[in-house]
Amino acid sequence: MDLQLKGKTAFISGSTQGIGFAIARQLLQEGAAVIINGRTTQRMNDSIEKLQQEVPGARVKGIAADFSKAAEVIKLTAQLQDVDILVNNAGIFEPKPFGEITDEEWLRFFEVNVLSGVRLSRALLPGMLERNWGRIIFISSESGINIPEEMIHYGTTKTAQLSVSRGLAELTKGTGVTVNAILPGPTKSEGVEEFIKQVADSNQVTPEQAEQDFFKTMRPTSLLQRFADVTEVASLVTYVSSPLSSATNGTALRVDGGVVKMIL
Ligand code: NAD
Repeated sequence: MDLQLKGKTAFISGSTQGIGFAIARQLLQEGAAVIINGRTTQRMNDSIEKLQQEVPGARVKGIAADFSKAAEVIKLTAQLQDVDILVNNAGIFEPKPFGEITDEEWLRFFEVNVLSGVRLSRALLPGMLERNWGRIIFISSESGINIPEEMIHYGTTKTAQLSVSRGLAELTKGTGVTVNAILPGPTKSEGVEEFIKQVADSNQVTPEQAEQDFFKTMRPTSLLQRFADVTEVASLVTYVSSPLSSATNGTALRVDGGVVKMIL
């Protein structure tokens, strides 16, 4: 199937590793030009080199910016022109008892997980509407509808992304622009490997045991009963990025291994 992504330009926030990196690789494999993003130039350049090795002929560049710093985001958006596909992927997560999450942490989670996508969409949606084509994709989470008791602040930001996504889709009525959210389930990214290590340390078990316990106690409804690979999430994002997904708008699509027990 030709996903018709040649000639399109994508920007993916937080794409030096994990799900974002996998999305960048797949879009490049489909012939799109990709702008990746990370917090440091060094980290970003390493990822660009890796992508160029993995995808011969890849048209990839990077712009560094930290989404917890508004001034850096303003500088970033000023450099983004004619982006056809915006993937709002940057996100942070960390298990923490509710009583220990400070106001500062609540605000940091909101800024990185929600305002990142708000600021980028505010800058890029008008151009997409003017050109009558575009894709905005929010990488939310099953945690946005199954709020995890071990990180309520994270779940709250993931629910907020669903509202922003649906709201923005309303602004695309009758155009070739679509705005959708993707809800991954537990996925083996570098960030999640770190998360599992933290859970293992605090429960004083091995990471392998922590992983098994995770599906037994924290995500028992998973039908997959394993972490998804980052490429499994990227495949859905790549399809939604494509012109072929033109009738999919204003929705939240799950790639959650069946962890959410809902028919729709
Ligand atoms: P990860 O930690 O492996 O990667 C996150 C990326 O975001 C990294 O490249 C990191 O550098 C970047 N990032 C973090 N803070 C940033 C900041 N302040 N400014 C710029 N970039 C920043 O995580 P991942 O698992 O690949 O997660 C990617 C997205 O997928 C997140 O939004 C996450 O909430 C979502 N998600 C992940 C899972 C999962 O199980 N892995 C499940 C559901 C949703």
